[in-house]
Amino acid sequence: MFRRRERSESSPVGRTESVCPYCEHDLEKKPGRKRKCPHCGEFIYVRTRPSDRQKVLVTEAQAEQIEEQWAIVNGTHKEYLTRKEQFRNAKDELMKQWGQEPSDNMVRYHLLNRSSMKHAQEQQWGLFRNAKLEMAEIIRKESDPRNALERYLEVCYLDLNGPSNIGVFVDQDGKRTPILHENNPPWDPKRWGDLAPAVVGRLSKLIEKTETDRDKATEMFLCVATSLEESLQLPLSPQDAWKILAAELHTLLEVWDNT
Ligand SMILES: [Zn+2]
Repeated sequence: MFRRRERSESSPVGRTESVCPYCEHDLEKKPGRKRKCPHCGEFIYVRTRPSDRQKVLVTEAQAEQIEEQWAIVNGTHKEYLTRKEQFRNAKDELMKQWGQEPSDNMVRYHLLNRSSMKHAQEQQWGLFRNAKLEMAEIIRKESDPRNALERYLEVCYLDLNGPSNIGVFVDQDGKRTPILHENNPPWDPKRWGDLAPAVVGRLSKLIEKTETDRDKATEMFLCVATSLEESLQLPLSPQDAWKILAAELHTLLEVWDNT
């Protein structure tokens, strides 16, 4: 006799209707992105599921299920599982160190910090800068605007120095050595030094939020940039970089016009 497949195995994840996936209350409007349910207060996620490409409302756990399904569809399931394992290990490690459970964001921060150090060793300065930006984003989301402001100032200083990903030579034992030659400097402000409008935009919002005036911002920038200049041997001086960044910020910050 054939046993019918369990419904839970075959039924696709998530709700296509406008219903909370936690408390099943009807929602007035189907959310288009992550939103708090007004009835139970849980976060509802919006995802496209691979089985039928339908947009569905899901719980946090179901969102992870869908992420894994996509990894299988895209042929990246192995990488997905490795990432999950790294995350779990880092979480355990931090839990032992701190004696309490870290938030997922703090685990992510810790992993990014670790990979930023690896990028620095391998002179992959573009990747290093991207990791620093993601770390700044996490701090911003953890609602620490003053600290986030300093991190964004750092990213702008890195951007103006023109970071470059230097190639890596891998020997038989798997040892990785950066390939340095004079036509390919790790930092080149003239060729690659450029501010990212989205980053400067975020920065100006943080300046407004923390009510930081021009003098205080100058002091903060010179402080974080000088320490980076020394540790990474950056070619563009903090003073020259600040001239460029401050001019850009002036166009965004009306309150700075009178100072
Ligand atoms: Zn609900």
